[in-house]
Formats: sequence, C-alpha cells, structure tokens
Amino acid sequence: MFSYPIPHELPEEKIVLENLSKVYGVRSQEGRDAEDFVALEDFSLAVNAGEFVSIVGPSGCGKSTLLDIIAGLSKADSGTVRVSGLEVTGPGLDRGVVLQGYALFPWRTVRKNIEFGLEMKGASAKERREIGQKYLELVSLTGFEDRYPHELSGGMKQRVAIARALAYDPEVLLMDEPFAAVDAQTREILQDELLSIWEKTRKTIVFVTHSIDEAVLLADRVVVMTANPGKIRAVHAVNLPRPRSNHATRLSREYQDLRQKIYQGLQGDSRLPSSLGLPPERNLSFPQTEPVGAHGAIAL
Ligand code: ADP
Ligand code: MG
Repeated sequence: MFSYPIPHELPEEKIVLENLSKVYGVRSQEGRDAEDFVALEDFSLAVNAGEFVSIVGPSGCGKSTLLDIIAGLSKADSGTVRVSGLEVTGPGLDRGVVLQGYALFPWRTVRKNIEFGLEMKGASAKERREIGQKYLELVSLTGFEDRYPHELSGGMKQRVAIARALAYDPEVLLMDEPFAAVDAQTREILQDELLSIWEKTRKTIVFVTHSIDEAVLLADRVVVMTANPGKIRAVHAVNLPRPRSNHATRLSREYQDLRQKIYQGLQGDSRLPSSLGLPPERNLSFPQTEPVGAHGAIAL
C-alpha cells in the first residue's frame, strides 16, 4: 500500500489576485476618439504569507497599475484582489505602500511622516518615538528628523517613504520601484537592508522593479510581465540561499545563471525593442562600484 506524505502546513495564500483586468480609455493617434488600452489582462497570482515576490517588466507593462489595484488606490475593471482572505475595496493599514511618486505629507517633518502609521494604529507617544527612531536610523536619516520633505533630496524622500511604510509593521509591503531614484551605492545599501528586514520579519512583499538583477537578488519568485496587454510572461523560482546580500549573492553562479535565463527569455519577446539585451559584462567582484544604470535595468 502506498502512503503519501501529508504536509504539516500548507502555505497560506496571503495575496490572491484573480483574473485582474484594467482598461484605460485613451485618445486615438489621429483624433479625439477614445480607444481602449488594455493595461492589465487576466492577471492571476497567489503570493504566500512570508513570500517575497518581485514583478519585473518593461516600462508601461502595467506594473504600477497592478500595485495600485492591490493597494486599493485604483479599481480593476474585472477580477478580484483578496488579502488575508478579505476582498480589497480600498486602502488599508494591512498593506504598507511605497509607491512611485507617493507623496510624503509636506506639513509633517521626517519624524512625523515616519510616525504617521503608528499614530493611525493608536500607538502611544513613547512607542511612536522609539519605533520611529529605529526606522530613522535604519534608513540613515538621523540628523534630518526635523526637516520637512521640501528640504530633502529625492533619494532622502524615498527613504522616508520606506521607513514610513515599515514603521507600523504592516503584514504586507507593496513597493513600486522604491530604489529607482537613489544613487547606485545607496541602492545597494537599501537592498541589503530590505533583505535583512525581510529575513527578520518575514513580511509578504510584492516588489516592482524594472531591474532583473534587483528582482533576482531580493525575491523568492520573479514574475516577468510583458506589455500591451500587461500579462504574466513567465514565473521563475529563485532558490538562492539566504541570507543574501549584494556582496555575496551577486557573485554566485546560480544568481548569474538565473539572471541570464530571464534576459534570454525576454530577448525572445518580439514585443520588446531589439535594443534590449544583457548589460555589458561587469566586474562582478565589486558590485558596489557599479555605475548607475548597470543594475540590469531594462532601459526602455
Ligand atoms: P509600468 O508601471 O509598468 O511602467 P503603468 O502601470 O504605469 O506601467 O502603465 C501601464 C500602461 O497603462 C501604460 O501604457 C500607461 O501609459 C497606461 N496608463 C497608466 N495609467 C493611465 C491612465 N490613467 N490613463 C491612461 N493610460 C494609463
Ligand atoms: Mg510604474
């Protein structure tokens, strides 16, 4: 008689996206007639609790549209989003967001921006100060706590947004190209910080990027999208050992093989411009000295 092992624990599906579609009405090339533009078509994906999923794809393939829908900031035309089994009907404190161009509160200082979610959750002043301080330090903004957003650089604003999303400890983090505006060295520091935060907290993360290198470095699974209409093209499991870091992981054979495989898969996509290719060979011994833009970005 055969017996099959019964798993003790089936992975809990934290985020379930079913058949999401989003159509924008846009003006036609010739005239003023509205045409339908399918930004997202029949997009289905389940993200397990504690899983780190990267979504990668060329500019305009619907990544931000997708994340806005999961965040509850935009509505899909059809399909459903469930987080922890509940259908998403709007924004909520269960989902921390770091979205592109997501504005900080201009009337609040850096510290007060970071403490915002904690206030919403009803944390005491002492708790807010302690936790806020921890995240201020984490994103290296000590000394800037009393500044207002207009007194910060783009990269600093982005770091405040990351600290604000992390500080109130949401179960799910939705991040839309959070490191795109920072310089190469800060980007690697923040990637390493995010890796260590994820390893400590095991949050469920959906991380949008147009950098294949960044997607592979961070994620358990890389979802590759294709444009027009925005769909899933491929899903790659990333079985690189953890803990990971820029320094150690980027040097590994497995990392390089996987990024190569994803690039090659994309090159077969006739909908992408032929200019898309592997970035030139880099000196992989010194990943921290890469010039900006050498992160395997799909430069479209
Ligand atoms: P990505 O984040 O992958 O670059 P987006 O989700 O921002 O892509 O956009 C997907 C497509 O939908 C793009 O072609 C974009 O021009 C279009 N789009 C996004 N928002 C709107 C809008 N509000 N109205 C019309 N078209 C839009
Ligand atoms: Mg985008």
